[in-house]
Amino acid sequence: MHAPFLAEAEALRDDLVALRRDLHMHPELGFQEFRTSQLVAERLDALGYEVQRGVGKTGVVALLQGGLPGDRTVLLRFDMDALPIQEQNDVPYRSITLGVMHACGHDAHTAVGIGVATLLMRHREQLPGTIKLMFQPAEEGLGGAFAMIDDGLLQNPRPDVALGLHVSSTHDLGTAVVRSGAMMAASDSFRVVVHGRGGHGAHPEQTIDAVLVAAQIVVALQTIVARNVNPEEPGVVTVGALHAGEAGNVIAETAELRGTIRSFSPEVRELLHRRVREVCEGMATTLGATAEVQLRMGVDATVNAPRPTAVLHAAVAAVLGDDKVNTTYRTTGGEDFSAVLARVPGSFFFIGARSDAQGFNFPHHNPRFDIDEACLPQGVAILCDAAVRCLNGAHEAV
Ligand SMILES: [Zn+2]
Ligand SMILES: [Zn+2]
Repeated sequence: MHAPFLAEAEALRDDLVALRRDLHMHPELGFQEFRTSQLVAERLDALGYEVQRGVGKTGVVALLQGGLPGDRTVLLRFDMDALPIQEQNDVPYRSITLGVMHACGHDAHTAVGIGVATLLMRHREQLPGTIKLMFQPAEEGLGGAFAMIDDGLLQNPRPDVALGLHVSSTHDLGTAVVRSGAMMAASDSFRVVVHGRGGHGAHPEQTIDAVLVAAQIVVALQTIVARNVNPEEPGVVTVGALHAGEAGNVIAETAELRGTIRSFSPEVRELLHRRVREVCEGMATTLGATAEVQLRMGVDATVNAPRPTAVLHAAVAAVLGDDKVNTTYRTTGGEDFSAVLARVPGSFFFIGARSDAQGFNFPHHNPRFDIDEACLPQGVAILCDAAVRCLNGAHEAV
């Protein structure tokens, strides 16, 4: 099968790489993507899109009405924010902003988005329907997708299907992950404050030691996934922070634990929340203390609808080859595009950006994260191809 957009996307490669490197040098944290969104809006404006700025603070929405009759609207999503990490790569396009880095690849997503915008506008006369581009701020934990939804992202027009991508340093260049169902996890957080009774380090009998209680809680929390969750179902409970005490001869009165909970199914999510609360409160009670447990719901699992996923699969197969599609991988990472996919059927996929030969194999959020930029035109071609298929109703076929 030939890939209609690949040659054209490859012809954009220098521009895509230059744009990605420019964004990489000038990373901006969530809801502070002023330069990035300005640049995006200007490029879209110049291409002839109907551009809406300030959607969800620093988000940008752009519309393209195709030249053929058709009432479907296809939403394509690209996130734009960077992370509070000091870059350690020694490259000409290294971040010039101290302590801020595109360590998740959202610079690449933004560049792919501009590439997609360019090609779809070029083919405007052959498009039956509307393309809606979503350039999203603040994906990294600040809820940029929710901010855009609250600002009317999904109205006027309402999308019929939503597609998005993420580069992946876990997967080799030239491959992709396209998977139906839950592909990324629900990501929730918890904070526990243990209240004991402080006192002299020499007289434990007069105290309730919050350090000991917290330590027992950390260990007991690890029994939840090991002993309560069905082994067929993934789940994670991580305690990432534990703070208590000031001095070696003082028994601490309080201790604080903070952690994250990951799950793919609503049932496991509910179980993990319930057991975290029970274990913390129960262990504290057993040892004479009390535990105040706060559970905070984060993003939902990213759930790909079967038909839009089949469309993406066909597009990836056309661009990369059918044998390059991984349909089984999933990750306990979280993604706020799940908020869109909870409201509009659609699919999210990973495009391989790893190259061991070139050293592009550090994990996401690592200070040495980088990508093989050859994935950029591939991402453009896949999304253009999938978008056109959806405008023609491929995602509605049984
Ligand atoms: Zn990330
Ligand atoms: Zn990301």
